[in-house]
Amino acid sequence: MNAFQKLGLDTDVLQAINDMGFETPSEVQEKSIPILLEQETDLVALAQTGTGKTAAFGFPLIQKIDPDSKKTQALILSPTRELCLQITNELKNYSKYKRSVNVVAVYGGASITEQARSIQRGAQIIVATPGRMQDMIRRNLANISSIDYCVLDEADEMLNMGFYEDIKSILSHTPKEKKTWLFSATMPKEVAKIASKFMNNPVEITVGSKNTGAENVSHEYYLVNHRNRYEALKRLSDANPDIFSVIFCRTKRDTQKVAEKLIEDGYNAAALHGDLSQNQRDLVMKSFRTRQIQMLVATDVAARGIDVDDITHVINYQLPDEIETYTHRSGRTGRAGKNGVSMVIISKSEVRKIRTIEKIIQQKFEEKEIPDGMEICKIQLFHLANDIRKTEINHDIDPYLPAINEVLEGFSKEELIKKFFSVEFTRFNNYYKKAPDLSSEAAGGRPEVSEGNTRYFINVGSKDGFDWQSLKDFLKETLNLGRDDVFKVDVKGSFSFFNTDETHSELVLATFTEFQHQGRFVNVEITKDQSSDKKGKRGKRKGRRDGSPKSYNDKGNFGKRKGSEKREKKGRKGSRNKNIENSIKRRRAKA
Ligand code: ADP
Ligand code: MG
Repeated sequence: MNAFQKLGLDTDVLQAINDMGFETPSEVQEKSIPILLEQETDLVALAQTGTGKTAAFGFPLIQKIDPDSKKTQALILSPTRELCLQITNELKNYSKYKRSVNVVAVYGGASITEQARSIQRGAQIIVATPGRMQDMIRRNLANISSIDYCVLDEADEMLNMGFYEDIKSILSHTPKEKKTWLFSATMPKEVAKIASKFMNNPVEITVGSKNTGAENVSHEYYLVNHRNRYEALKRLSDANPDIFSVIFCRTKRDTQKVAEKLIEDGYNAAALHGDLSQNQRDLVMKSFRTRQIQMLVATDVAARGIDVDDITHVINYQLPDEIETYTHRSGRTGRAGKNGVSMVIISKSEVRKIRTIEKIIQQKFEEKEIPDGMEICKIQLFHLANDIRKTEINHDIDPYLPAINEVLEGFSKEELIKKFFSVEFTRFNNYYKKAPDLSSEAAGGRPEVSEGNTRYFINVGSKDGFDWQSLKDFLKETLNLGRDDVFKVDVKGSFSFFNTDETHSELVLATFTEFQHQGRFVNVEITKDQSSDKKGKRGKRKGRRDGSPKSYNDKGNFGKRKGSEKREKKGRKGSRNKNIENSIKRRRAKA
């Protein structure tokens, strides 16, 4: 006897299960299915994401539906359009050997009249988002007055999204005698409230540890000047070398932009938002699950249903428009009994929002400072030391050992360690030594957002083997700037000109202070006539760098940040220093 059969399921459902390739029921299925089949009862089932809750209510529901009656017998409420469609699809699969069971999905952003028409053709099961369902009821397009079952799926998420009032109102249109089945990953207060208010003596099933969602997540906020947001994000990441995180932005555009910048800067990042095709999204999620991506930059909508357990940090690059959404974001970490941190990068004017959130989550935030350069160097060094301790020796290097030993002959172990660590330290130190204190800049709150471009003079040109393209590449790589950040590159004989956005001028000047290549000082100055140099930016500045150094990681290459595809295509595998070396090499080849 098949394990599903033992739970009391009929042949037609069993056959469908067989087609789907399910062999053994998951724990939540094992516990819920017999109860739902045998008893007419309310039920609260708590189980982590990805444990098969859909089938836990779907199998019994399909079995209990009367195909001979066309009236709507069940309503499933689910938080998003995506989940709605998923559930609908699953239910169609489950019922494929059962004749004339109709499942209709009802969600926003699609024609309501189409959906109403499908319902009129006879929908025994409606799968709906609360908002659209409300509309349907208001406009008399659906009749749920004699349903037998109401399923609240992913109840915590629905409540996180502020659907409490909608759910309450929808339930008021359903008969008292119907049975309510509530499925949720966590049991925050709001879910408990729904259960106690709208359910009748529910049977409770808990799989795994009961997770209130909040207790193992700590909340931190970092005050920065808004123009330093991105720099702050990178520091938070650099200060947490093993970070595995979801970074939330408000819009698709920002999501894409931040992800692109991170990739440019050599981080293992990707964007997840609604403009991607389902296929692209699946690919991104796959890379995230397998840890090829350490920083997933996502919109709230796209991040729904992310069922990855070991997320160490949630970073709110921007706070959500709807403050209630914060709980949903922070709930991505601290799952499965693990600890998690939810970080918020904010500017001064947003502090009051933090106070509002504290009231909602009933937890205090800790105000923390963006780590400074030296702290990050220290963290990275210790991380490196630990990695070295854990690294297994790769015997492919054996043939080279005699030669390497020769090169390093005469150094003591202490000296070797010092030298080895100096390599890494210098790299980080060079990058961070001129980095400003972002926290103190936040306090100043300068509203400096500049428009306009800055034009520079640089004392290299075609005589040094550059054309506009190779000079642009060289500048981009040396400055660690993005594709379009260096423009209007004009190469002359022994000098050239180029533009950047005014906001990068400090970086440019700082980078080319005492900058040498091929034994020669490369000098950059802002050109007086063509720049929008109203603020008198000439001369040396305490610089801020926008790029990032590479860190040492457990794969043994530099950069946690190890070759994203994009980087590899560009041949930018190494460190900042390597980039410079490469462009020099390229030019040598040309010369
Ligand atoms: P949840 O709602 O708990 O997050 P889902 O119902 O979405 O989880 O199921 C997660 C995945 O597990 C789906 O791809 C589903 O097809 C699969 N699945 C569910 N039950 C089983 C089972 N008994 N055996 C194998 N796969 C299953
Ligand atoms: Mg689910």
